[in-house]
Amino acid sequence: MTEKLIHQNIAEIRERIARACERSGRSPSEIQILAATKTRSVEEILIAAEAGIAFVGENTVQEAKTKFSQLSASLEKHLIGHLQTNKVKPALELFDLIQSVDSLKLAQEIEKRAAQANKMVPVLIEVNVGGEASKFGIVPQETRALVEQITPLSHVHIQGLMAVAPYASLEEVRSHFRRMRELFELLRELANVEMKWLSMGMSHDYEVAIKEGANLVRLGTAIFGLRG
Ligand SMILES: *Cc1c(COP(=O)(O)O)cnc(C)c1O
Repeated sequence: MTEKLIHQNIAEIRERIARACERSGRSPSEIQILAATKTRSVEEILIAAEAGIAFVGENTVQEAKTKFSQLSASLEKHLIGHLQTNKVKPALELFDLIQSVDSLKLAQEIEKRAAQANKMVPVLIEVNVGGEASKFGIVPQETRALVEQITPLSHVHIQGLMAVAPYASLEEVRSHFRRMRELFELLRELANVEMKWLSMGMSHDYEVAIKEGANLVRLGTAIFGLRG
């Protein structure tokens, strides 16, 4: 996509976010845009960064490895795709935050590798809010128990929740986002849990997500156009 189009897309997204915020009594300054950059070139990502996008998300360790060395260290880099335990070590070297933690086993592997590297790893818990068999994530009913199991790990720092809503009508999607918000508020009350990020909303549903409380939206198509 051309530089001009990416800039225009981002300007339009900012306007739509401002409108969604206005309608729900929120401030656009609360909302962080993450560019979902799978299949996008380094050139495209650099254009988005130049337009003020400060967060990028990749789905795989492999793709991050080929691109991140060419990106500024000041961009905040998130893993938004599924992470296998055997990729945790390189993932911790590449990413600033892992949005896709959905099992104790994965959290324990992150703990082990983070302890070895002497670092603290911010993570989000991925919730399979629609309970879909085809999706990763912990189901809503089990999220609290998982959070309570992970909280004692001293090198893993839970900072919120991430969800991919089912592909459905915006009304149904809204009910899933609402459930996520309720879970977010509930978990916020637990001791030693920081709920900073509610990561939900993609190109087709981010306005609904914002109205329901998202503060981190993950946008691919809306920024860069259709994936080739
Ligand atoms: C690809 C992807 C996105 C962005 O999807 P778009 O529909 O292109 O905005 C967001 N989150 C995750 C986890 C993704 O894999």
